[in-house]
Amino acid sequence: MEVALKIDVDTHQGLELGVPRLASMLEREGVAASFYITMGPDNSGRAILRVFRNRGFLSKMFRTKAVSMYGTRTILSGTLLPSRPIALAFPEIIRDLKQRGFELGVHGYDHVRWQDHLDDIGDDGVRKELGDAFEVYRAILGEASRSFAAPGWRTNNAALVALDAMALDYRSDTRGVAPYRCVVEGRVLATPEIPTTLPTLDEVMGRPDLPDDGAVRQFYLGLCKPDALNVHTIHAETEGMGQLDSFTALVRALKERGAKFVQLREVAARLNRAELPVCEVVRTTLPGRAGWISAQGPVRIAFE
Ligand SMILES: [Zn+2]
Repeated sequence: MEVALKIDVDTHQGLELGVPRLASMLEREGVAASFYITMGPDNSGRAILRVFRNRGFLSKMFRTKAVSMYGTRTILSGTLLPSRPIALAFPEIIRDLKQRGFELGVHGYDHVRWQDHLDDIGDDGVRKELGDAFEVYRAILGEASRSFAAPGWRTNNAALVALDAMALDYRSDTRGVAPYRCVVEGRVLATPEIPTTLPTLDEVMGRPDLPDDGAVRQFYLGLCKPDALNVHTIHAETEGMGQLDSFTALVRALKERGAKFVQLREVAARLNRAELPVCEVVRTTLPGRAGWISAQGPVRIAFE
């Protein structure tokens, strides 16, 4: 069983507090992982408030323990309080991750703008978000990022084409079952897409059939396919903070079952691009998640 931990870092607080805790735990457990960091401002308060407004602010707030998950400062960031930088506030944390052998990639510039307005900002807006994000990454690490993970698993044709032109090693933008290449308006893109295969913790938390951490852990163990690559997206703000103990227990349970932890760059390096299935990227919804996400569509051509 192979497990790739894809760690999305969406907020200032997630990078400051969640990332170092996760990195220490993963190192202690001898587990490889890949971090994807939001390079621009933390406007996450806007996104969090929007979700709660949509679903009934107070009940959701109490049910998901949002304040303890995100912290009051994050919820207010970009709303009542000014937005704070994410990557640029903690370049030393990012360099330290690289030093310790973790994989790093870009998780967008303004996470909220991308997630909420991807289709409104136009092709130029999309290219600007990408350009800014990759520029900050290069400024911090002195080299180009070789990968991209879309904020909120949302992409569109402009983003896919612009990213393909950057000749990255891979993208991890979508939800799906196995690595593939995207077809956009009849053209097969070169860059492999390595989709997230498992649901995220915030999608399953609060489900009545998963009343406690043990039930959630068994649920994930049951979903991991023994003969396949399982890509699990976790969040610095969640598994790195309030849910760290529960996530550590999951990592240990996976190790006991013989799971091999791999970084997505290792997966990308061994892919034979010509043999990957070619799929359209479709939009769908997921239980427990607000709004649409991009997903691996039906296979268009099995082999070129
Ligand atoms: Zn994210």
